Amino acid sequence: MNAPVSIAMQKCRHCGAVDALTRTVCSTCLGAAFDPLDVEGSGTLVSWTTIRRAPTQFRDEVPYDVCVVDLPGGHRVTGRLAESDRVGVGVPVVATALRGDTPIFSIVP
Ligand SMILES: [Zn+2]
Repeated sequence: MNAPVSIAMQKCRHCGAVDALTRTVCSTCLGAAFDPLDVEGSGTLVSWTTIRRAPTQFRDEVPYDVCVVDLPGGHRVTGRLAESDRVGVGVPVVATALRGDTPIFSIVP
């Protein structure tokens, strides 16, 4: 397995809430100023699904799995799941790569 990677997020300068990247307003206070925040890329799988009908830019990649992961500190992110043959809710996962800003999670052996 590859070494874990950090996940880039953003922290609101006004209230301190942490959100996924590319938000233009804070989901908590509607503030518009952020600082970058790197979050440890290991967590717990909350949910996942297999995409079989994808948006145009991802059609060549179907089927692929997307997931929701809870990270330390109460952060929740979406990403891709590298393998789905051993998944279950509550399974520990780790981000082993990034595709742009999207983390690719693998099941912790
Ligand atoms: Zn805020």
